[in-house]
Amino acid sequence: MCGIFAYKGSKKNATELVIQGLKKLEYRGYDSWGVAYKTDSKINVYKEVGKIGSFDLQNAEGKIDFSLPCSLAVGHSRWATHGGVTVENAHPHLSSDNSIAIVHNGIIENYAELKKDLINKGYKFKSETDTEVIVHLIHDNIKLGLTDAVKKAIGYLHGRYAVLVISKDENILIAARRGSPLIVGSGEKEFFIASDIPAFLEYTRKVMYLDDNQMVVINDRPEFFDLETGKQIEKRIVEINWDAKEAEKGEFPHFMIKEIMEQKETISRAINQDEDKILKIAEAIKKAYGTYLIGCGTAGKVCLAGSYLFAKIAKRHVNSAFGSEFPSLQDFITDKSLMIAVSQSGETADTLEAIEVAKKKNAKVLSIINVEGSSMDRMSDYSINIKAGPEKAVASTKATTSQLAILTLLAYAVAGKLDEGKILLVEAASKINDMLNPRYEERIKTLAEKIMNHESMYVIGKGLNYPMALESAIKLQEVSYIHAEGFAGGELKHGPIALISKDTPCIAIVANDETKHEILGNAMEVKARGGYIIGVSPENNEIFDFWIKVPDAGNASPIVNIIPVQLLAYQLAVLRKNNPDMPRNLAKSVTVK
Ligand code: GLU
Repeated sequence: MCGIFAYKGSKKNATELVIQGLKKLEYRGYDSWGVAYKTDSKINVYKEVGKIGSFDLQNAEGKIDFSLPCSLAVGHSRWATHGGVTVENAHPHLSSDNSIAIVHNGIIENYAELKKDLINKGYKFKSETDTEVIVHLIHDNIKLGLTDAVKKAIGYLHGRYAVLVISKDENILIAARRGSPLIVGSGEKEFFIASDIPAFLEYTRKVMYLDDNQMVVINDRPEFFDLETGKQIEKRIVEINWDAKEAEKGEFPHFMIKEIMEQKETISRAINQDEDKILKIAEAIKKAYGTYLIGCGTAGKVCLAGSYLFAKIAKRHVNSAFGSEFPSLQDFITDKSLMIAVSQSGETADTLEAIEVAKKKNAKVLSIINVEGSSMDRMSDYSINIKAGPEKAVASTKATTSQLAILTLLAYAVAGKLDEGKILLVEAASKINDMLNPRYEERIKTLAEKIMNHESMYVIGKGLNYPMALESAIKLQEVSYIHAEGFAGGELKHGPIALISKDTPCIAIVANDETKHEILGNAMEVKARGGYIIGVSPENNEIFDFWIKVPDAGNASPIVNIIPVQLLAYQLAVLRKNNPDMPRNLAKSVTVK
């Protein structure tokens, strides 16, 4: 959440570059944005409410002067936590004498006490944010010089943050982090700092990861410090192998549809893993006394699907919980436990916290991530990269199915049937490739047109596909804003069936497995009460008012069955004139708790 981008170097106009970088990070937060840039010995700030995407660089006259030479700038696109969406609350925030500017991602938990102390010292606050305390704390210690003043100020902060600082008096760029991601990109005599790699991928592939409790000071070159010991640290440069084009929309109108379509290839990529590593991890799962799958949002639903997959395929009991709920379950974790953390970004704050708890108890941690070098990747005993390529739409699609593919593969590996699992998934990948054609898209669009004006819809599933009913509901909520809920088919009669009225759309996910007859029975119960039944199934059935055909993929059915619902959610968003890439109130990569 929140996009941060900064540039130090004289090859390009820093302000222009930062705004372009922020545009690429907009999926991380888009209620307001701002930029601070240094010209001569002055800090200039420009802030706006709304999305940066619509800011026209060519017609910025009277707002930002790009003709001024500028080699140092920081920018921020906000996802508000403290204080409303206003220009005053947008970042960067300035010290009272306009000499220091900062941007911040995260939450300062003790900001109220700090604010009280600063007000007593005479500081005046211009915003309602938690962030503003940081800039005044730095100013309060500025006699120490900027670097030490930042170190000192950081020492007062509780919570998770990524902070960037510039000042009118020193030609340096400073960044510090605890809990929120920051990556340094290293070019030829120019440096970038961003909260996500794709933002600077077109300029450099050489990156250095800033870890928790570390700070970087960039002058002619970056110097890294440990904030606890104060000691300087050496950083390894990592070469990123993502293609810059992969992070662009290309010929597609939105990232969401591009990423849905990429599922023609991403499943095969996900399962192309080092076999020895998969077998070693399978052994760790077998040996573990208590295994916990932990994820948030869509990844949380993938984790629930993982519980079903391990039960059905490997006959093993694997627990699953949401990251934010895990603290209440932590008493069950011992040094013999294994945590399997699932996160696209590898930076989800609630999941990171769960990992920290597990590590404190000396449990082993396996991360399933899409971003190499992310916090989770680096702090885990084992990690599996799903290799889906950059996922930019807020609503996860290709990462979801790749995470499901990895969990399916692991379940087969634990069962001692890795080859069987691979064959199943390779076949599923090829069936998805055939399924995702223009005719299929057209059919789903026809359905979207039929149901686009409904206020509520429901999704039911059973067994392996119950978690997919829950995931379907999230997808529909996120981008179509239609009230959608997912249920286990058998649970309807215990309450939710009271919600069904005439023509209420109800998607029934019907896999061709042992659950088929029961879930069809549940769909019949809905139909008998007037519901409009949309069957997602390999075979048609007279119960269905509308049939969406999916290939029969056996135990890989959750992967295949979620895809038409992703497409439906996308089509509904477009028809209802919502931006599917940037749904209201949401942002990608949830780095706040
Ligand atoms: N807590 C800060 C605010 O509300 C930062 C939010 C963010 O990470 O975008 O302004």
